[in-house]
Amino acid sequence: MRISVFSAHKYERDHLERARKIAGLAASFDYYEVSLTSKTVSLAETASAVCVFVNDILDDSILEKLNLYGCKAILLRCAGYNNVDMVSAKKLGFFVANVPSYSPESVAEYAVGLIQTLNRKIFLAHDRVRMGNFLLDGLLGICLKGKTVGIVGTGRIGMCFARIMNGFGCRLLAYDPYQNNDFLRYGTYTNLDNLLAESDIISLHCPLFEGTTHIINKNTLHKMKTGAILVNVSRGGLVDTEATINSLKEKHLGGFAADVYEREGLVFYLDHSTDIIADDALMLLTTFPNVIITGHQAFFTEEALAEITKTTVDNAICFFQKSNCANNLVVQNAIPPQDAKPAPTKF
Ligand code: NAD
Repeated sequence: MRISVFSAHKYERDHLERARKIAGLAASFDYYEVSLTSKTVSLAETASAVCVFVNDILDDSILEKLNLYGCKAILLRCAGYNNVDMVSAKKLGFFVANVPSYSPESVAEYAVGLIQTLNRKIFLAHDRVRMGNFLLDGLLGICLKGKTVGIVGTGRIGMCFARIMNGFGCRLLAYDPYQNNDFLRYGTYTNLDNLLAESDIISLHCPLFEGTTHIINKNTLHKMKTGAILVNVSRGGLVDTEATINSLKEKHLGGFAADVYEREGLVFYLDHSTDIIADDALMLLTTFPNVIITGHQAFFTEEALAEITKTTVDNAICFFQKSNCANNLVVQNAIPPQDAKPAPTKF
């Protein structure tokens, strides 16, 4: 029994091996740094399961290949499953399990870190001080107390984010087709247009599916306050990059902090420091003084890694023992996210 682990980095191997030993999983892991694509799928030829991350591709053709190899399980080391063709996976009889939650606090805390790094220009100040420049010109920020923060998606991460921003003394607005009564402790729900118009800071915490793709686009950017800050630690595809660049150039959007990027699969999690990166939009963004881009690391804490690897190993045990799995996306009929219809909302 072998499990092919794609997009495997050293920091995960140690955690996975520890979790495997603790849980007594008999199957062994084969680690591959490359991501799962049509070119690398043959690495799973002798595997019973693949273990994958956010940028591995599990479309119909790759699932067909895995099926031919007799590889029948997809163990996601993440919550999102927008990279899996769930219709095809169900049709082919795959076991697909995710890690629905792993330290949502880690992601929310990171979003707050990005906001203050951008708002208070800490990243610019750090560079200056290293060059012996202690001038304050250009480093002016705003105080968060009393500012309006718009939260798009009040699920696990959005709620942690709301709790922290409430602590800063911010006024909180939220938009979510499925409202969560717990949020009412911190703020009020409104429609997306109103949230965009009133917020000084907008933070995205909704999943990516067809209905949320480019939820931030030319039109919605136009509806934001001049000078507003946009934060995306959710999925890159929520934001239309070109429209965002234009809004920044027009000095309408005041700042952009993103831990995710819509074409990140070609660049993130690899060292390109001696390459020419061909993604012009990404490279342009890295030159703006009011933009911070990081490489999908909001989840990256000791606590989250321990939870991810433990749940992944538990999911693998369920697959091999053919026992019930609480995270089985096929049984949950969690398909297809692209067609997910939000519940009717009063807005
Ligand atoms: P969750 O499922 O608990 O919450 C998502 C919320 O979004 C739900 O309340 C849902 O009703 C809401 N939603 C759905 N459609 C919406 C829409 N059209 N507009 C507004 N809200 C909508 O998920 P979560 O655990 O809070 O995670 C949120 C997202 O964060 C994930 O989908 C994932 O993409 C991302 N994420 C990123 C990282 C990272 O390291 N950067 C780590 C974990 C998760």
